[in-house]
Amino acid sequence: MKNCLFCKIAKKEIPANIVYEDEEVVAFLDLSQITDGHTLIVPKTHSRNLLETNQDTVNSLMHAVNKVSEILGSRLNAKGFNIISNINEEAGQSVFHTHIHVIPRYNKEEFDYKYNSREITQKHLSLLMDKITRS
Ligand code: ZN
Repeated sequence: MKNCLFCKIAKKEIPANIVYEDEEVVAFLDLSQITDGHTLIVPKTHSRNLLETNQDTVNSLMHAVNKVSEILGSRLNAKGFNIISNINEEAGQSVFHTHIHVIPRYNKEEFDYKYNSREITQKHLSLLMDKITRS
């Protein structure tokens, strides 16, 4: 897609620090580096987000998640990973080309990724289930 930052990176029109690449995807260091080795995996074919990506490409992306995690585990000694894909602006997506964040973790404390811990009642859960299961 024209003027898409990640399409340009995939086509090597813009340089990036490439961690892994195969026929379908390219993985490169995120400039923000939430933790050391924070990597983005993007499909070479443009799609807007993970939910609008065809299943074969999703499989390729997940295969690359394994590869990248393996690399970051062995080379940087990462002990764990957060795998995140933001879908739409409401979820914090800022580049509208599908990407998966692989955020390596070295200890629990290095960044706070807690969801808000609101107190949920059984009534609230029942209301949600009514909406989810309503036909
Ligand atoms: Zn794109």
